[in-house]
Amino acid sequence: MRKAIITVAPTGEGATKQANPALPTTPAEIADAVYESYKAGAAVAHLHMRDDNDRPTMSLAKFKETVERVRDKCDIVINLTTSGDIRAGDDERMAHIIALKPEIASFDCGTMNWMRDDVFVNHPHFLTRLGKAMIENNVKPEVEIFDTGMLFDSFYFIKTGVLREPVHYQFVLGVGGGMPATVENLAYLVRQLPEKATWSAFGVGKDHITILAAALVLGGDVRVGFEDNIYYSKGVLAKSNAQLVERAARLVNEFNRELATPKDVREMFKLRSY
Ligand code: ZN
Repeated sequence: MRKAIITVAPTGEGATKQANPALPTTPAEIADAVYESYKAGAAVAHLHMRDDNDRPTMSLAKFKETVERVRDKCDIVINLTTSGDIRAGDDERMAHIIALKPEIASFDCGTMNWMRDDVFVNHPHFLTRLGKAMIENNVKPEVEIFDTGMLFDSFYFIKTGVLREPVHYQFVLGVGGGMPATVENLAYLVRQLPEKATWSAFGVGKDHITILAAALVLGGDVRVGFEDNIYYSKGVLAKSNAQLVERAARLVNEFNRELATPKDVREMFKLRSY
């Protein structure tokens, strides 16, 4: 099995400081959380921004400041969301790809109901533009799959040249409106992958630990952090993002996998050096 990449997703769009006071929301807090997670074994940081009122935003200024603060501290691989604010228009969702050229960015491969009261819109025209912008700016897409249909849609984008092989997938399981977070579902998805693909997976909330273990056993990469789960165990809040990374790093060792460093990730994914 190849080395296991731990991605930390410290903030996300939905978690609140009311629910977990350790949630990092300012550029300085996010950079500190990323650095602590890096020291605990994370090789990639998947970042979302919040405005001055802690609401989700695709503000280019916030992305820029946060990336600079992270870069001052460590060489972790930067992965920026393109879906950080459900109200954002297509141009706003791509501006930071072109301006900041992160090494990796998310590519959400289809539209889905965010149960129970929203729609997560990823129009094929938007995805085509996004994929092309990523190719032009040498940004590696992390293709996020919330449900089976999205995986098969990604094959269409490979065929049309919007995604280039080898594709790296992120399976997002257990979101209301998406595929439930079960080992059976994960194993099914992994079996459908193109031969050259690489993949990572995570479950949200209570199913987080199940998918963490399953992904490591099945040979994939993993993601942890407050974007997906603010608890360490049932009813016990995680103290920090780094605490979740520490556990993931322990499991990587327990399952006889080797931990990937940022340098390993840059080699594996042939990333542009930053
Ligand atoms: Zn995200």
